[in-house]
Amino acid sequence: MIQYLPLKEINSQYEPQLSKAIENVMETGWYIMGEECKKFEYEYSEYIGTEHCISCGNGYDALWLIFNAYKQLGILKDRDKILVPANTFIASVLAITHNNLQPIFIEPNAQSYLMGEEEILNAIDNDIKGVLLVHLYGQNSYTDKVGEECRRRGIIIVEDNAQAHGALYKGRRTGSLGDAAAHSFYPGKNLGALGDGGAITTDNTMLADSISQIHNYGSKKKYIHDTRGVNSRLDELQAAVLRIKLSHLDTDNERRRQIAKRYNEEINNTKVTLPRVEEYSAHVFHIFPLMSEQRNELASHLESYGIQTQIHYPIPPHKQQCYSIYANTPLPITEMLAQREISIPCHPMLSDCDVTQIIDAINSWNI
Ligand SMILES: *Cc1c(COP(=O)(O)O)cnc(C)c1O
Repeated sequence: MIQYLPLKEINSQYEPQLSKAIENVMETGWYIMGEECKKFEYEYSEYIGTEHCISCGNGYDALWLIFNAYKQLGILKDRDKILVPANTFIASVLAITHNNLQPIFIEPNAQSYLMGEEEILNAIDNDIKGVLLVHLYGQNSYTDKVGEECRRRGIIIVEDNAQAHGALYKGRRTGSLGDAAAHSFYPGKNLGALGDGGAITTDNTMLADSISQIHNYGSKKKYIHDTRGVNSRLDELQAAVLRIKLSHLDTDNERRRQIAKRYNEEINNTKVTLPRVEEYSAHVFHIFPLMSEQRNELASHLESYGIQTQIHYPIPPHKQQCYSIYANTPLPITEMLAQREISIPCHPMLSDCDVTQIIDAINSWNI
């Protein structure tokens, strides 16, 4: 059986260091926002290449905190319009609407599955106040042209880097390209904790200060609350785990890239479409998406070979009941991709032999 993502095996690679780190936290008797957290924030900001890193409870909170801080600072206002790719995970959209901002759903490019330069530049007008770049599947979606145009117009760029820890654009890490970035350390992400976790990276000191306050009940000084905040904090156990896993992230991503390279070179079944990888981007293949008009048949075929697959994502946000007000937005590319996408295993625990089996199984599929 080739599992889609064998989390237990993935984390077992880092034993006994993980257990030792957890034991160390137990010995300190300090569980929230302590030394491990501070060290992780420092190491992660160094890794991403930003001035600041604020850890928080999860990836959704990281996104919400960024938009909320912009509102508390008076830079964004109720109903301001934010561009968001329509084929993202729902968290990206919820972080916008839960701040009483307005999502403007943008169709992704049909080959790269990203809201690309052309899509963004076509959609920008004087009403757009922010762009949420989602580095979907692990591939960067920022370009210099988008950056320049947004800066010129005073549009805020927020990155959703939940799927792309370690990805690059012209040698710079995603998470350092826009004004602020949200990161998720959900267990299944490329940099995954043993539970929930998240972080915000930014070079903007004012924004970082605001977020540091909001994520801890609006307090800078204990029991003094200048603004209305929330509780979204990373615990010491997760920070200690993440520090160990961060030191292996580049090696893991490199292995994912090797696997993806083989998929791109060796999958030759004309009934499936391979993802286009932009030249300037070092993709980290959080997900390896194939497109097929008969994806359910392909899934059953692979299942019969003992290969698990997943779908990212079967129903786009605007077709979810909770967003029924957007149900009639015409987004044909998004809907087509949602019907065709099938994700095949792409993780560091796959052996070369597993990869060959997956490729052979796909190539032998004919209907
Ligand atoms: C996972 C994910 C999130 C949310 O992260 P959580 O830590 O699960 O809250 C946000 N955006 C994208 C694109 C994601 O894949």
